[in-house]
Amino acid sequence: MRIVLLGPPGTGKGSLASLCDEKLSVAHVSTGEIFRHEIARGSALGKRVQQYVKNGRLVPDELVVEVMVKRLASPKFVKGFLLDGFPRTQKQAAGLDAALVKRERPLHGAVYIASPQDVLVRRLSGRRVCVGCSLNYHIRTMRPKKAGICDRCARPLVLREDDKPETVRKRLKLDAKNAAPLLAYYKARKRLYRVDGRGHIDTVYKRANQLFRKLGWVRALHA
Ligand code: AMP
Repeated sequence: MRIVLLGPPGTGKGSLASLCDEKLSVAHVSTGEIFRHEIARGSALGKRVQQYVKNGRLVPDELVVEVMVKRLASPKFVKGFLLDGFPRTQKQAAGLDAALVKRERPLHGAVYIASPQDVLVRRLSGRRVCVGCSLNYHIRTMRPKKAGICDRCARPLVLREDDKPETVRKRLKLDAKNAAPLLAYYKARKRLYRVDGRGHIDTVYKRANQLFRKLGWVRALHA
C-alpha cells in the first residue's frame, strides 16, 4: 500500500500514520520529522531548511521532492509506505508520481483527513512533542503519565516552534491556499479519498482502516 495522507496541520495525520505503522506495519515517513531531525543534528540539509521550518514557510518543492524520492528508494519501503506532510503542492505531487511510476510502483491513493477549523486550532495549540523520539502528546487529550516527560523515552516534551499561535495561523492560511489545487490534482486522477478526522484517534483509525480494507490496500500490503 502506497498512500499519502492529506489534510491541514492538526488534523491528526501524524497520529494516524503512527497507528497504521504500529497496527498494519506500513512504514510511515513525515517530511516535518525528517526536517526537524536534520536541523537538530546540524546537517547540511538541516541548514538549508532551517529558516523555512522555523517560520512555518514551505521548503522549496525541488528540494523536498529530491529528499523524499531518495528516501523512498530504501528497501524499508518495498512493501509500501504512508506519507505524512508530503506532498504539500501540486508540483510535489507530480514529482512524486513521476518517480513512483518510473519505479513501476505507482501511488494507490491520497487520503484526506477532514476536520473543522476550530478543532484544528484547539489541537495545535495544545500539542507537545518529545525532543527525543518525536512522539506527539496533547495537554488535554493525550497527556503523558508524568507532566512534561515522554512516556516512551523520558525526554522532555516541548511546544514546537511552529505550533505557537501566530505561526499556527500562518500555517493554516498557507495550507488552505495550497490544499485546493493539490486535492484537485488527486481528484482529477480518481485517487482522492476522504476520512472524517473528528473524534478520538482510535475512531479515526477505525474509519481509515475500513477504507483501506474496502479498497484492498491492506491485502496488497501482506501479499
Ligand atoms: P509538519 O511537521 O508536517 O507540519 O512540517 C513542519 C514544517 O516542515 C513545515 O511548516 C514546512 O516548513 C516543512 N515541511 C514539511 N513538509 C513539507 C513539504 N512537503 N513541503 C515543504 N515544506 C515542508
